[in-house]
Amino acid sequence: MKKSITDIDRSWLSGRTVVVRVDFNVPLDEGRVADDHRLTASIPTLELLSGAGARVVLLSHLGRPDGEAVPEFSLAPVAERLAELLGGPVRFIPEQHDAANVAAEVAELVDGQVALLENTRYLPGETANDPGLAASWAGLGELFVNDAFGVAHRAHASTAGLAEAMMAKGGEAVAGLLMAKELRYLEDALKNPARPFTGILGGAKISGKIGVVSAMLGRVDQLLIGGAMANTFFLAMGFDTGSSLVEEDSVDLARSLMEQGGDRLVLPVDCLVTDEISDDAVPRTVARDGVSGDDKIVDIGPETRALFSEVIRASQTILWNGPMGIFELDPFAEGTVAIARAVADACDRGALGVIGGGDSGAAVDRAGVGDRVSHVSTGGGASIKLLAGASLPGLESLTDKV
Ligand code: ADP
Ligand code: MG
Repeated sequence: MKKSITDIDRSWLSGRTVVVRVDFNVPLDEGRVADDHRLTASIPTLELLSGAGARVVLLSHLGRPDGEAVPEFSLAPVAERLAELLGGPVRFIPEQHDAANVAAEVAELVDGQVALLENTRYLPGETANDPGLAASWAGLGELFVNDAFGVAHRAHASTAGLAEAMMAKGGEAVAGLLMAKELRYLEDALKNPARPFTGILGGAKISGKIGVVSAMLGRVDQLLIGGAMANTFFLAMGFDTGSSLVEEDSVDLARSLMEQGGDRLVLPVDCLVTDEISDDAVPRTVARDGVSGDDKIVDIGPETRALFSEVIRASQTILWNGPMGIFELDPFAEGTVAIARAVADACDRGALGVIGGGDSGAAVDRAGVGDRVSHVSTGGGASIKLLAGASLPGLESLTDKV
């Protein structure tokens, strides 16, 4: 068990400088924040700290500027949006390179003030987990709070490195409210799930997720597989997948997972196919053994929608990661929307429904059921790693609760 911010005495926080790693890796559109879910998710931690009189120094990455100050990855628009959400000013510190200057700006903060430093990935030492860089960030404050669940699976200077550096100078490193909430939902669902427990996997990142299929099969009563991931299983079953997205290297693995899973592993029985991926395409419904030629599988079919929905509605615990099709385009969204609605229906009757993954979260919003599901995780990769039983460096590095 790790310490969290609620284990820190509120009165101790007053006047202290607290370094907080948040995950503000949000999509930008023409210099504005296009989706602020990750910002709103961090507000409880920021309000707790600021309200207690702490001086709050925020660190985050945005995109992959690869160690250089690439202007399109600046956090400046994020600082603006955050100020709107907090209803008060956020001091943006527009650089990272001159450590003495950053420290001087931080020293000017007053109690309760919030500051955001420029993108951590403007420095090459961030992803290299450079101890010197971690120590310079740790030097800015007296407590480290990691609230960046979305990067908890990475050991970077501003996550695991900073936690270690803070502890090396006698300080503590604790989980923020968002981190704690994410773990509560994901670990509760995993450790002691109410049954039936259904897992749903989909999406495009086949190689990144096929490894978790095995771990999930050991825990769930049924594992529903859709999206492009299902295509590799179709190959393993000897079906033609036409021109669909598949991962030939993983066919043997898919075959052995089918043996391991038996009846618990449930694949689509039909699919939507098209030869052209566009938003005015009119896909055809075919049985899973009826795909050929230029056909691209773009969604689960109507029979599968009904089959999957029925399993989901009868479940008490549901974990979902990855859409059932190319849901960004209207003609291929129906399968994903049907699954989102089924999860929401199950939650309405008291089931625990947890959604992991950026695209799955967007799909739940698109289906208009975001506020009916139990929890939408801010971390795709991190939640998948956790489900697979891997330890998360961002979490492991925190102070133990004694
Ligand atoms: P998440 O972000 O929820 O973890 P992924 O990033 O793994 O999910 O995958 C999401 C992407 O998978 C979406 O952009 C979607 O268009 C794509 N996808 C889903 N099904 C298919 C398919 N059958 N063929 C190609 N792409 C697909
Ligand atoms: Mg994704």
